[in-house]
Parts: sequence; structure tokens; C-alpha cells
Amino acid sequence: MSRPKLNRRIGLIQPSMTIGISAKAKELRAAGVNVINFSAGEPDFDTPDNIKMAAVKSIADGFTKYTAAGGINELRDAVVEKEKNKNGLEYKRENVCISVGAKHALFNIAAVMLEEGDEVIIIAPYWVTYEAIVSYVGGKAVIVNTTEENGFVPTKEQLEKAITPKTKMIWVNNPTNPTGATYTVDDLKFIVELAEKNDIWLVSDEIYEDIVFDGYKPVSMATLSDYAYERTLVVNGVSKTYSMTGWRIGYTCGDAEVIGAMIKLQSQSTSNPTSIAQCAALEALTGDQDSVEKMRVQFEKRRDYIVDALNSIEGISCFKPKGAFYVFPNISSFFGKEYEGKKINGSMDFAELLLEHHHVAVVPGIAFGDDRFLRMSFATSLEDIQEGIKRLKEFVEKIK
Ligand SMILES: *Cc1c(COP(=O)(O)O)cnc(C)c1O
Repeated sequence: MSRPKLNRRIGLIQPSMTIGISAKAKELRAAGVNVINFSAGEPDFDTPDNIKMAAVKSIADGFTKYTAAGGINELRDAVVEKEKNKNGLEYKRENVCISVGAKHALFNIAAVMLEEGDEVIIIAPYWVTYEAIVSYVGGKAVIVNTTEENGFVPTKEQLEKAITPKTKMIWVNNPTNPTGATYTVDDLKFIVELAEKNDIWLVSDEIYEDIVFDGYKPVSMATLSDYAYERTLVVNGVSKTYSMTGWRIGYTCGDAEVIGAMIKLQSQSTSNPTSIAQCAALEALTGDQDSVEKMRVQFEKRRDYIVDALNSIEGISCFKPKGAFYVFPNISSFFGKEYEGKKINGSMDFAELLLEHHHVAVVPGIAFGDDRFLRMSFATSLEDIQEGIKRLKEFVEKIK
């Protein structure tokens, strides 16, 4: 029998490598191997109890039916309040769409905004999903490569050069997955001005806004000018701040017509995000916020430890991130060398040998568009980080 003839576009995207490595690490663990896992893209903390109980109550109350496709009014209003209080952004209910995670929000934005061949500027190293989504809907991802020396923030010249008459949007993630890079207000102002000059839309992925260090306070691009307010789609969600990745609630704020189109798309595809999860997210946004700071403090402690520990290993250099829960160490000094007779040609070889022989799971930088690096998540206990670093050190000492 012949193979199924799949849609051309599904062939344009790769399965998520992060999820693939996590799965392999879990498999080894299930087989009894003590794996230290730095590959997770999610907080290791439990979802706070007040949030869980809100979900339990919603089930007991029978809140288990379809809701409006764009989310329940209470949650949309809670997002309006939250954006006003935290970021000084004035939205109305019709400016908010609740989706099945921020990933779904980004997918819907691409689907309702992009025509075939429209260009989207994506800043590398990037969250790989950006490129996949843009390609899948027929857009063209235009990659701007940043450097460690520039704190993984693009230069003005790089951004200017990437603009063409086909540029439709610039997607910015601040703080950034996978590098932990953070943008200054000036960095963002330049992007906003460049967008205005060229009539470009902006996506501001603010999912890590609460996981920040050294007193860094992210500013939403949408606040920086009237144009930015009109033309920025602010994407956020509860996954990272409240350790709720499995609940799948994200949201978009912005232009009411774009939001309306996203809701229309949802009404004919996913329908509403899970009713119960919406109630949990409502409690997350409006209930006690103590757990957010508690988790942030733990992340900062771990960041301090892991950055110093990595920089103390000969051959590794690591940028100190001011946000998110990842470090992005440069391991390219080992390329061309050998581990027990096996040549290391790139980040994939490095990650595979490390997992196989020393049982430490990391994500190769190539998954984020830069092969010279690894992404290591510190959303794992300090004890695990210490043990993992010890194993990493043993591994690199054997590279000749
Ligand atoms: C984790 C993450 C998201 C959010 O994912 P959800 O779908 O809300 O769980 C969005 N953007 C980036 C860059 C992320 O790392």
C-alpha cells in the first residue's frame, strides 16, 4: 500500500526537540536509570493549592460544559485587570482572547494575520515553536542571529537589515527562552520605532515576565507608544508564573478585530479552552500571589549557583540571564574533539553522549537555531543541579 499523502505544510515542521529529549530522559528514568534532567521547559513546583482547589470546586459545581469560544467573561476581565495593574495597559474585554496555552495563542495569531509569503522577524536563539508556527501557516521566518557579547539581543543594524517590503511582524520574547536574555526599555523602543516606520505588527511574548532576577523589571512593548499599543499583540499565560503548564491556559491582548478573528478561528477549531482550567486560571490571576515570589526566589538562587558552576568548568562559558529559568552555555570549544573515541561535531553529539554515558539530559542549542550552545533548565532542585554539574564536569574532562 502507498503511504498516506499528507498535506504539504505538515512536512515543513519538525516535532519539538525539547519534548523529544524530555521523553527520552523520562524513558531512561522509567528503566531505572538515575537521570538528571535539565531539559524541562516547565517549572518543577506543584501548582499552588488555592488554584487546584478552584478547579475542584468548579467540577463540584458542575461547571463542566462548553463556554464561550474566547473564554469566560470573568477570566477575560481578570486579564484586563491584571494587564492594567501590572503593565499599565488599558484593554477592554473585547481585546482579550483566552486560548489553550500561549502556544495556541501564537498559532492563532499567525493563522489570522499571515498571508502566504509574509515575513516574520524572529530573533535567534529562538523558541523553536515560533519558526514552526510561522512556516506552517505559510509565512516566512526571517531569522536574526544574536550573540553572547550582545546579551543575545539584536543590534539596531541587524534588525534594520532584516526588514523587507514583505515584513509583516516582529516577534519578541522578553525574557527570552532559551537564552534568558532581557531587553532594556531602549532596546524595545528601537523595535517599536522601527515597526512604526515600516508599518509592522509586533508580538510580545511575555510568558516569563514574573521570572526575573537582579531586580530586572520587564516593560511591555505595548506601553511604549500609541502605535505600539495599537499594533502589539501581547501574549501571556499562566503556565510559567503559576506552574500550570498542564492546565493549558494562555491569552492574547490587543486589537479587537484581530482578537475577534482569533475567537472565530477557535470557535471552528478547538472551541473554548477547558472550562475547569479557566476557573483555575481565574484563581491564579485574582487569588493570593505569594507563591509567585516564592518560586521566583528559588529560581534566582539556582541561577546564581548554576551560572558560577558552569563558568568554573574549563571550556564552558555561560551568560548570566536576568530572566526565565534557562542557562545557555557555550560548549563550542569541545567541537572537533573526541569523547572515548567518538568525535563531537556539534551540540547534538555533545547532548547525546552526555545523556548516554553520564545520564544528564540537556537540549542541544541547534534546536533553538544556534549549534554552539546547550540549553539547561534550572527548573529542577538545587541538589539535582549540583549532581548534574558534577557529572557534566566528569564528562567534559574525558573529552580530548
Ligand atoms: C513555555 C513558553 C510559552 C507558553 O507555553 P504555554 O503554551 O502557555 O504552556 C510561550 N512562549 C515561550 C517562549 C515559552 O517558553
